[in-house]
Amino acid sequence: MAEFFDEGGRVSVLTTQGIDRLLTYRAPEGGCWEGAFVEVPLGPRMVMGVVWGPGEQGFDASKLRAVIRVLDVPPMRAEMAEFLTRVGDYTLTPMNFMLRLATRAPGLTNPPSMRKIYRLGHNEPDRKTEARERVLEVLESQAHSAFTLKELAEEAGVTSSVVKGLVKLGAVEEEESPRDLPFPHLDYTAPGKALTGDQAAAAGALRDGVRSGTFGATLLRGVTGSGKTEVYLEAVAECLAQGRQALVLLPEIALTSEFLKRVEERFGAKPAEWHSGVTMTERRRVWRMVAEGGAQMVIGARSALFLPFRDIGLIVVDEEHDNSYKQEDGVLYSARDMSVLRGSINGAQVVLASATPSLETWANAQAGKYNRLDLTSRFGPAVLPEMRTIDMRQEDLPGNRWISPTLATAVRGRIDEGEQALIFLNRRGYAPVTVCRACGHQIGCDHCDARMVEHRFLKRLVCHQCGETKPMPEACPSCEAEGKLAPVGPGVERMAEEVAETFPDARVAVLSSDLFASARALKAQIELIAAGGADIIIGTQIVAKGHNFPKLTLVGVIDADLGLQGSDLRAAERTFQLIRQVAGRAGRGDVSGLALLQTFQPEHPVIRAILSGDEEGFWKAEASERQAAGVPPYGRLAGIVISAPDLDAAMNLGTALARADGPIVQIGAQVFGPAPAPIARIRGRHRVRLLVKAPKTAPLQTALRKWLASVDLRGDIRLSVDIDPQSFY
Ligand code: ADP
Ligand code: ZN
Repeated sequence: MAEFFDEGGRVSVLTTQGIDRLLTYRAPEGGCWEGAFVEVPLGPRMVMGVVWGPGEQGFDASKLRAVIRVLDVPPMRAEMAEFLTRVGDYTLTPMNFMLRLATRAPGLTNPPSMRKIYRLGHNEPDRKTEARERVLEVLESQAHSAFTLKELAEEAGVTSSVVKGLVKLGAVEEEESPRDLPFPHLDYTAPGKALTGDQAAAAGALRDGVRSGTFGATLLRGVTGSGKTEVYLEAVAECLAQGRQALVLLPEIALTSEFLKRVEERFGAKPAEWHSGVTMTERRRVWRMVAEGGAQMVIGARSALFLPFRDIGLIVVDEEHDNSYKQEDGVLYSARDMSVLRGSINGAQVVLASATPSLETWANAQAGKYNRLDLTSRFGPAVLPEMRTIDMRQEDLPGNRWISPTLATAVRGRIDEGEQALIFLNRRGYAPVTVCRACGHQIGCDHCDARMVEHRFLKRLVCHQCGETKPMPEACPSCEAEGKLAPVGPGVERMAEEVAETFPDARVAVLSSDLFASARALKAQIELIAAGGADIIIGTQIVAKGHNFPKLTLVGVIDADLGLQGSDLRAAERTFQLIRQVAGRAGRGDVSGLALLQTFQPEHPVIRAILSGDEEGFWKAEASERQAAGVPPYGRLAGIVISAPDLDAAMNLGTALARADGPIVQIGAQVFGPAPAPIARIRGRHRVRLLVKAPKTAPLQTALRKWLASVDLRGDIRLSVDIDPQSFY
């Protein structure tokens, strides 16, 4: 039960400001509830905060300032406060950062009001300029979204007078609208597709879980195209029927449009959307409606997990193995793991869906902590593609070519039949390395210990660490020889060149996240490909994620060995997942698919596991290796990164920490390092890593807190802690 504080009583307030403690104020006129969003004075400013509990009694009452007002938004629920606290404890994140994560909607402090919004009108403009076309395009492609003048002009890249001009012509309509309208009702009684036996059994189990109104986690495993989405939409329907809210997390915004369409077909309207592509106005509406119950369903990126749901009954994490669920910036949390936490606090069901689950989730299912549901076959006539290796040691290929004769013949065969082929290479840009043929110098980033990647499309060299770019120099920066710089190795752009030379008559489309200025342009390219507008697709890992290309029947993996190098503990798991996912793109229609993997080590156990399709076998082998090594999911890791402009400063702090490892040793854990990080310098900061390895059940966070409490971050030294790290750069 939330506590009520009478006017003048003492309350503690959590703010989003950079002070890591609660501040005591007097309750405002009329009093306030625990959980209320309030405005409080802080120094000379007014800031937003949440009433967290009773205030401290120690101070002189006359020195206390009063809460200015209670904001007109639903108070934070106790479950949300608990969730934020536990995520903060788990990730060692100060609470003010947690509150920021939970209030990422602008204008929450503004009163509800009317404002002008813009929609597609009924008239065609008499004269179509390019700018006008862009405005109409934006409105057509996001018909369900409300735009303010500023947002529409920005999204279309035009001045606001272009929009105003269209309003005069009746091509765009301007209307007064209350902010924050509820979302259209989703009709959960509409029947879904007729399910197959497997699907019906899985859907039944999920529906039962949701109906129980209690927490439970389920791994929903099934090959791509087996109908996982159909099945979990049944669970969504059940959840809505219970009057509770459903959240579906997707790893990639480019996937949302296809998914929105399916939801609309199923429930008669679109759900709320929450991701970086959503306008600020719309964000505010989503945040409020989720809190008030005016949004039954949200689909979104990982941060949607921190929306203030009134009553969440179901969380689906689609493609749960995907790396992008781990936030690598700011608050380092795993949306997959935190979904399970949120579900357990809220009495909600959590569904983790994947064709190639993470080893963590697989192990939790093995241990009986999660239920497991399997869909074993593809829906309809589509069968899984056949997979074969191409032994590159046997192929006759000049040094600057990457498509083997065997693969080329296969591609030719498919496109002659009017089918599509996908050439997969998980490397953006033209060439990963630029080397001087006179002196051997490789062009690196000035701020990072990383080589710069040539992007011919952008006509620049790009650092994939810090984003720094520079034009390709004429002369070698080291020996000054002119005209000697040469690209080494392939990226997707270079593959496009080779494909164009090898198949001059083919229509080629490249799919790489950096080639598109906006999510919309990327979406358009995906739709073009799906409609058969390309014969050969060249793609990075973005193609592995759930897009449906019915004409695609052949997948050629240029370098199946790429992910196997490197010391990352998940290298094998990632390669296995990625290649199985990519291969799964082939043959979703009625023609069976083929996946060809170019490799120099066809006898490598991971390559063999991919081919045999013995997933259980692969996981068991991988699990026993990890168990023996005591690493996740059978042990726990925490990564510590110390960075500073000065290498010695970072190293000294690392060494001091390693020496003071008492609290870590006490729980049976070990500290490794300090060592220069694999990428030893980023944006001009030197980076030093330590790794803490602990037994599975050790109280890792408590020990880390004790250990790090002694750290004095003087000057420009930064320290970040990554619990359950996914990447080790
Ligand atoms: P997954 O999520 O496992 O990749 P989907 O749910 O997207 O699989 O299903 C793949 C395709 O098959 C989709 O176009 C879907 O509409 C269709 N499909 C799956 N199950 C059925 C069914 N029982 N009846 C009709 N179509 C189905
Ligand atoms: Zn850089």
